[in-house]
Amino acid sequence: MRPAELNPFFRALTDLGGVGPKTVRLYARLLARGQEDPRVVDLLFHLPFDLVDRRARPEIALAPHGAIATLTVRIARHEAPKRRGAPYRVFAHDETGELALVFFRGQPDYLRRLLPEGETRIVSGKLEWYGGRPQIVHPDHVVAPDEEDRLPTIEPVYPLTEGLTGRMLAKTIASALDSVPDLPEWQDQAWLAKNGFPSFRDALVQLHHPEDPADLSPDAPARLRLAYDELLSGQLALSLIRLRIRKQSGVARSWDPERVDAVRNALPFALTGAQEGALAEIAADLAAPHRMLRLLQGDVGSGKTAVALVSIAMVVASGAQAALMAPTSLLARQHFEAIAPMFARFGISCRLLIGGQPASERSETRRGLAEGTVNVVIGTHAMFQEDVAFHDLGLVIVDEQHRFGVHQRLALSEKGPGSDVLVMTATPIPRTLVLTTFGDMDVSRLTEKPPGRSPVETRTVPMTRMEAVVDRLAAALARGEKAYWICPLVEESDTIELTAVTDRHAHLTARLGPQVGLVHGKTKPAERDDVMARFKDGDLKVLVATTVVEVGVDVPDATIMVIEHAERFGLAQLHQLRGRVGRGSKRSVCLLLYKDPLGETAKGRLSVMRDTEDGFVIAEEDLRLRGEGELLGTRQSGLPGFRVAVPEAQGELIAAAHDDARLIIEQDPDLVGPRGPALRLLLYLFERDEAVRLLRAG
Ligand code: ADP
Ligand code: MG
Repeated sequence: MRPAELNPFFRALTDLGGVGPKTVRLYARLLARGQEDPRVVDLLFHLPFDLVDRRARPEIALAPHGAIATLTVRIARHEAPKRRGAPYRVFAHDETGELALVFFRGQPDYLRRLLPEGETRIVSGKLEWYGGRPQIVHPDHVVAPDEEDRLPTIEPVYPLTEGLTGRMLAKTIASALDSVPDLPEWQDQAWLAKNGFPSFRDALVQLHHPEDPADLSPDAPARLRLAYDELLSGQLALSLIRLRIRKQSGVARSWDPERVDAVRNALPFALTGAQEGALAEIAADLAAPHRMLRLLQGDVGSGKTAVALVSIAMVVASGAQAALMAPTSLLARQHFEAIAPMFARFGISCRLLIGGQPASERSETRRGLAEGTVNVVIGTHAMFQEDVAFHDLGLVIVDEQHRFGVHQRLALSEKGPGSDVLVMTATPIPRTLVLTTFGDMDVSRLTEKPPGRSPVETRTVPMTRMEAVVDRLAAALARGEKAYWICPLVEESDTIELTAVTDRHAHLTARLGPQVGLVHGKTKPAERDDVMARFKDGDLKVLVATTVVEVGVDVPDATIMVIEHAERFGLAQLHQLRGRVGRGSKRSVCLLLYKDPLGETAKGRLSVMRDTEDGFVIAEEDLRLRGEGELLGTRQSGLPGFRVAVPEAQGELIAAAHDDARLIIEQDPDLVGPRGPALRLLLYLFERDEAVRLLRAG
């Protein structure tokens, strides 16, 4: 259970004064809490991206155009609007000149109270010279001289959401900060001192009170401190899981190489050097007495399935069983169809286990797995949640790992005590980030594509030219080609998203006839499978889809990929989508339809897509562009799972946190030493509760 010391951090925001039932929904949206109540900790980690400096105190005549200024002025007269729609003006002056304070739809009573004629007031806001006269439209602050301390000198600027003002947010953040105590230090004191890092609470306070633009940068000491806390908690959690998995010792497998070679030689192609390399590493792991925890990274189409297939053959030849898990039943079925006929030729029994199968079929599969007569099972991760027992599970292969969470990984390692684990991912994560996303795994990479692929020609086209694109599409379909048409995810609203994709489907059907299919997030699995199958068979020629097709669909003769609003997609996603075409030897095209005007980062992303097809290069570029986006304060799509850390900009911290976590867990695996209790607080604070449960003296 979470220690009581942390309760103030996990209180609902509504417990603070001033957050009512209506505003709390705004905070939930702002802090991405969905239907759940936002908590104090969520707000504390909501950091400013800019600041307003009100320290400039010029005289009127010398105030520069367009800058924030704070001026001490005497109020001369009020001037009500002379005609409808004109603003209410208040004129004020100092020794050097006159200043107009301008209010659209101003309430005269209120303004007379705020700015009484003949009195002195301090006003602050953006000053502009307009036709030779200075004015401030809607001053941000107006205070009497004896209330000057109420005027913030430097104000942080936060990401906001519609309906929530900066002032409301600032107030709630101030009471949130007041409501939390300092916590016992979990970081090494000497290390903190060496780096000049503040305590956890001081770091929070500093982050919400920036004094200088440098305080907002990812390498400001307070930001680094907090990022390090978050990264360390993540690395500690992963180390605990690794320790748990490694503690269960593995089995040294041995097999007759000729039986494996027979399978390998039956493949319709020769393995690439990269595939051979990965297989050699896997074979060494299987033969060794420790448990394998290996990540197989390879672009879409790099041939991971063949590696999986031969790995399974090794394990089966050693007398053990293997399981292959896919994120969806569609993909499970696809793997099954690719793999089972091949194994059947060698007397290897392979079964599919997914939802919707007849009960008798499922129970037969289970019996076979328990008795050991079934050698290989292919299914979704659901098979690890239900009670499937194995006779001797030697290898678990997880495809498209980024969809799986830590607890699923634990659940699967529990199924086959000692079984080896191979995780396959098509997400070309840069090396520095493998650690944070996957933890401490060994990595094999398929850097080389199988021969016989033709490159995909990528073009960017403005949305205004869509009709021309549809014309060309019609011509291509007439030549027998097949196309994907992808509509973007609409984050703010499922309804808008659904409308967009169904409208596009209707539009293309009107232009191209009934050969256009549709799948989206709300399509029932059975219907989705049916549409996909019809697209594969050629009954449908165009597949309109949201990003549901992203993961692993294999339709080798599809040659056209149209991505609508490509500027809304991240690079990794664009790359995955494009990987759906160019799978055969026919020439393929990818059209990135974009809406003008493009932001700098979006422009950068699209040109990277045009320039290269190498997933690892794209991943590095992605990281670089995100880094730049961050510095410009326009970060939209951070890496999942991080609240304050910016791994793109704080790469060195990751390695440090990794080493630190390893050392901690080596010396004190159950966190019972002097730093133990504080480190547990850290784990809970960043909601790694799962990992804490692994500690013996929890
Ligand atoms: P991934 O799962 O990595 O996206 P697949 O394993 O589905 O890729 O392989 C993509 C295609 O390439 C498949 O049609 C497969 O048969 C083919 N393939 C795999 N390895 C080779 C190879 N060494 N030579 C030629 N074709 C290959
Ligand atoms: Mg695959």
